[in-house]
Amino acid sequence: MAQPYDDRDGYIWIDGAFSPWREAKVHVLTHALHYASSIFEGERAYGGQIFESLRHSQRLANSAKILGFELPVTVEELEHIKTEALAKSGLENAYIRAFAWRGSEMMGVSAQDNTIHLAVAVWPWGDYFADKMKGIRMTHADWRRPSPETAPCHAKAAGLYMICTLSKHAAERAGYQDALMLDYRGQVAEATGANIFFMRDGALHTPIPDCFLNGITRQTAIKLANARQIEVIERVIMPDELGTFSECFITGSAAEITPVAEIGEFTYTPGEVSEALVNDYSDLVYRKIKIPA
Ligand code: PMP
Repeated sequence: MAQPYDDRDGYIWIDGAFSPWREAKVHVLTHALHYASSIFEGERAYGGQIFESLRHSQRLANSAKILGFELPVTVEELEHIKTEALAKSGLENAYIRAFAWRGSEMMGVSAQDNTIHLAVAVWPWGDYFADKMKGIRMTHADWRRPSPETAPCHAKAAGLYMICTLSKHAAERAGYQDALMLDYRGQVAEATGANIFFMRDGALHTPIPDCFLNGITRQTAIKLANARQIEVIERVIMPDELGTFSECFITGSAAEITPVAEIGEFTYTPGEVSEALVNDYSDLVYRKIKIPA
């Protein structure tokens, strides 16, 4: 078992100062723990620089807004805190977790007066999925992404991950690495922590992100594909089309671009397009290439 996350060396920035890692704690009567009033970001640093840092900070601020609160710092201040936290970690390649939550003043559905807390932690990070080009094995999730009228689906909010964890656990129990979630209409949506793309006849197809995150990596993958003159079609994709695609990959800050070899009964061969985009993404995050404007 890897070292637990609450028992490590180092520092975590919390509410205005760096705290020794093991002392960065919240009380059990914290609103976020009971009512999921928390939001977070998952970011990566490569060679000492946080990839798309500003967009992640802006998304955190926007997630706060969607949940009805404001971050206790400005986006510019958050940028500074993340940079400092990365430097203090001494890591070049790392995962950055910035998160905010409602505190303990009120412990009911209403929590209008609760203090908004903010923390930033940085830890070492390798590949989310080992041996990428082999492609991961996915199954079908039982849970569906809710409608925008049922949940604040454009916030990266803790509560929305309840069905992701349930789906991922079920997939892992059945011997798979991840699960494909449909949305409330029965359309193909995304993986449990990443967006999804399919390849057919030279073009990429990806669902319209109208009830799940329009991932920063998803947007990057579209730009990388466009730079290679690969057409990207954002459209409704129904599950009965899954057998018509040749390649498939998922995108996310943690997953980066990871080819998919299988979704339940359907198989895909991680091929030229997946490999080119996996390599382009790696070159981009390590600043060896720039996306043409
Ligand atoms: N969907 C879900 C459910 C996620 O957790 C993530 C990861 N944040 C994504 C999509 C991809 O988002 P991004 O590329 O911005 O990391």
